[in-house]
Amino acid sequence: MATILAIHAHPDDIEHLCAGTLALLAQAGHTVLIVTATAGECGSAGPDLAATGAIRKAEAAAAAARIGAEYRCADLPDLGVFNDDPSRRRITEMLRWSQAEIVLTASPADYHPDHEAISVLVRDACFAVSVPNYATGPAAPMAAIPHLYFMDPIRGRDRDGTPVVPHFAVDISDVFETKAAMLSEHESQHAWVAQQHAIIDHLASMRDWSAKRGRDFGCAYAEGFRQYTHTPYPRTPRLQDLLAGALRASS
Ligand SMILES: [Zn+2]
Repeated sequence: MATILAIHAHPDDIEHLCAGTLALLAQAGHTVLIVTATAGECGSAGPDLAATGAIRKAEAAAAAARIGAEYRCADLPDLGVFNDDPSRRRITEMLRWSQAEIVLTASPADYHPDHEAISVLVRDACFAVSVPNYATGPAAPMAAIPHLYFMDPIRGRDRDGTPVVPHFAVDISDVFETKAAMLSEHESQHAWVAQQHAIIDHLASMRDWSAKRGRDFGCAYAEGFRQYTHTPYPRTPRLQDLLAGALRASS
């Protein structure tokens, strides 16, 4: 059995982009851990940031519990995730806590600065986890660099509108309702995404995106991924092997 860590910027990003894959992995008996870089405390027009953050962490924990996953927050500031020394150490400590052999994170190119920043932080933290003299906290250095995968960016495009093409996709049709139930836990976001993103129904938005990736790969609903394989990151298809029958290769 494997341990898989999904780490993204805000509560609800993972539910949009990889919760179906996590549901399949959990269903198969693997250990799934979910981390957000921030509590998403700016995700409300209300003035009490601490209250918003607490609500959103509780929603993320409830979503994770739907598949028996543990949730933690790295408590970096919302709209304040940057690629700097303290943040890299904090994210490295989070990875060391997880001891995950597979890490899923945000796309390097995405619509939101926190998404792009956590992507770089996680990429470089994966390198740092096995460096024994890189001090981060109580968690033990890892034996090896984990297998690293990028999720799709939101709506599958970079900032220039160019499509980001996944290396492979996961057919999540069998667990789509679980994915929807996980996103439904983020009740506080219904009103916020309508105001900030002009998305009246974020569940419908997620369904439309999952169906689009499904059409790309010949199934009802799918999630796309790219594996990061620059030296010295592992290149073996560890996640792909775990997903076996649900794996859909690009044509
Ligand atoms: Zn986000």
